[in-house]
Amino acid sequence: MGSIERIQNVAKRVAKWHAAGHQVVVVPSAMSGETNRLLGLAKELSTDADRRELDMLASTGEQASSALLAIALQAQGVPARSYTGWQVPVKTDSAFTKARIKSIDDKRIRADLDNGKVVIVTGFQGIDPDGHITTLGRGGSDTSAVAVAAALKADECLTFTDVDGVYTTDPRVVPEARRMNVVSFEEMLEMASLGSKILQIRAVEFAGKYKVPLRVLSSLTDPLIPVEEEKNSGTLITFEEDSKMEAALVSGIAFSRDEAKITLLGVPDKPGVAFAILGPVADANIDIDMIIQNQSVDGTTDFSFTVNRNDHKRTLDVINQVVIPQTGAREVISDQKVGKVSIVGIGMRSHAGVASLMFRTLAEEGVNIQMISTSEIKTSVLIEDKYLELAVRALHKAFSLDSDPSNSATEE
Ligand code: ASP
Ligand code: MG
Repeated sequence: MGSIERIQNVAKRVAKWHAAGHQVVVVPSAMSGETNRLLGLAKELSTDADRRELDMLASTGEQASSALLAIALQAQGVPARSYTGWQVPVKTDSAFTKARIKSIDDKRIRADLDNGKVVIVTGFQGIDPDGHITTLGRGGSDTSAVAVAAALKADECLTFTDVDGVYTTDPRVVPEARRMNVVSFEEMLEMASLGSKILQIRAVEFAGKYKVPLRVLSSLTDPLIPVEEEKNSGTLITFEEDSKMEAALVSGIAFSRDEAKITLLGVPDKPGVAFAILGPVADANIDIDMIIQNQSVDGTTDFSFTVNRNDHKRTLDVINQVVIPQTGAREVISDQKVGKVSIVGIGMRSHAGVASLMFRTLAEEGVNIQMISTSEIKTSVLIEDKYLELAVRALHKAFSLDSDPSNSATEE
């Protein structure tokens, strides 16, 4: 919601669903750019602001957009009422700036819905056990919306975004990428954690935990497109692994440029070493992603792992200050010119040879694989970052995602 006109458009879209007989709860995000603006103001005053006050500040963006939406709806003749997180209440823990939702009381919302009102609940915020306002972390209104949908046992949670759905890969890298009509929840979880930034990953986790059917669709379409049409647009994240989805071995190619590889050389190969290396890194709250350790011939080995590029420097500090003195490793080297490419698909579960097609494709393109990690439904490789887009395009083609009609947007 970037402008008065955009707010009016949201109101028109909501009014349309309401008129079609649906009970509607809307969870708005702040107006675009507003959260950054607010946090930027705080930063001008202090680089180390109290997190409680940051939440007090950032939560106002959603409060403003919620009230504006209620006003816009009322101006269009639709009864509407907005609530902040604490009024509902949306109860969270006390982890300021990254709080987790504990419970949502549906009484007030339900009473208003039963009275024919559209209810608006601020996204991104809640209240902790001591009555302090909290926020859920950047992008957290996605999670708010899913949580409200779960609390109300809604038929579906529609997430209106600036993209029109979930694609087989980023269309900016592969113009042939296709929008999927359906994607399984597990695949979406992998894609979200592997770098597709469409939904906050916690929103996807929440949807999984409470089995909330979630649809990603565009906020940029004509707000008055018929409900029946809008209902089937975008991408549905579903829990039914029907045959249509199983037809595709690989559903999508995810990639991330935010990687850094850390390698410890000459680590003594003995029990406890992985813990001695990764324990201090975890204690510093740094997430570790891929890990590789070689067998030793002379009693020492090399140990590599990846972290988010933002954590690169902090990780090196921990390694130099804590890990090397404690383990007697010879030295640490690191590489930030790396990227991760992943193939994701629930079809991988029941089919052999999927990973090998990935490796063959990369071999044919002359791309060296530095690290590999797998789960039941994904295989990831770490490669030199200058080959990232080439690899994504080649894999998209090799897995027939350019042309496979089994899950194509044109099917319906
Ligand atoms: N306004 C918050 C943010 O910008 C929450 C959200 O938009 O989802 O991160
Ligand atoms: Mg958002």
